[in-house]
Amino acid sequence: MNNEKILVIGACGQIGVELTLALRKVYGDSNVLATDIRDEHELLNGTGPYMVLDAMDGHAITEVIKKHSITQVYLLAALLSATGEKAPKRAWDINMQSLLQILDISVEQKLHKLYWPSSIAIFGATTPKQNTAQKTIVEPGTVYGISKYAGELWCQYYHNRWGLDVRSLRYPGLISWKGEPGGGTTDYAVDIFYEALKSGKYTCFLQQDTYLPMMYMDDAIRGTIELMESPAEKIKSRMAYNFSAMSFSPKELAAVIQSKIPEFEISYAPDFRQQIANGWPQSIDDAAARNDWGWQHAFDINKMSDSMLQNLKQKLQLV
Ligand code: NAD
Repeated sequence: MNNEKILVIGACGQIGVELTLALRKVYGDSNVLATDIRDEHELLNGTGPYMVLDAMDGHAITEVIKKHSITQVYLLAALLSATGEKAPKRAWDINMQSLLQILDISVEQKLHKLYWPSSIAIFGATTPKQNTAQKTIVEPGTVYGISKYAGELWCQYYHNRWGLDVRSLRYPGLISWKGEPGGGTTDYAVDIFYEALKSGKYTCFLQQDTYLPMMYMDDAIRGTIELMESPAEKIKSRMAYNFSAMSFSPKELAAVIQSKIPEFEISYAPDFRQQIANGWPQSIDDAAARNDWGWQHAFDINKMSDSMLQNLKQKLQLV
């Protein structure tokens, strides 16, 4: 494990910041090279090596892999669901080209492992919405979802054809206090905590009864590393695994926050993201992840809300 040298591409995003910090704890600070197209995130500053790198620049990525003897890559750079709907062709280009390129580079450079995240956005309006199964009807309705599903098939293809050890998870909406959310349809479940503490009120861009699958970032990071650390024979899906922790609606989340901050008020002004959310599952069956490599979540809506409020109070210097 400690001989691994890891390259994180897209390390300054909502997941990248926390995943990089966690990987540095496991593999050693100097063995995890964080990269992004933007300047280093302040939380990464001083924690290990950093450089600017474009996920679309295959030549530069190959050079970095050779120079630093990289053995594993985590490709996190992407345009997310809501941003992708504003620039569909750009989202397709960035999401697909960066993946196809890293799949080729991984084979050429004989990487030990590649991680690339998928999303619940692969599911669409025709998918059964409750306890959505690992294998079911898949007709994604957003360009983001189309790119993720195509990406899953490409990952499986590279595994079958070239023996590439590529692994993936279908993340639900991720809730975190360290990095900022990057333009997804579930961002409300992060924004609501900031506004509850800062102004005591929040206007939600989804309707009150919109149930979506969600996960606290601590669980997502631990699960990601557990998947990557699992023996290869336990990884039975080389598409992405359904990956789940909790499901709730804005109304339910607001009620939990009100139980801790009684004066908190919520109102609703649904926008274009409502339509995206309407096409997604309400809850996810992740039995395959639990059975194959032992996934178990630790945070439910209450524990997550306590942790978010406590950490954000400190971050926003309200204590
Ligand atoms: P994010 O938007 O917060 O971060 C993405 C990062 O990639 C940003 O720091 C951005 O600067 C960087 N980036 C964009 N284009 C780049 C390029 N050309 N070269 C290098 N870096 C580039 O996204 P995130 O929430 O951290 O998501 C990471 C991955 O997880 C994505 O593949 C996303 O689709 C997936 N995912 C996220 C969620 C979620 O709720 N956050 C849910 C499902 C799947």
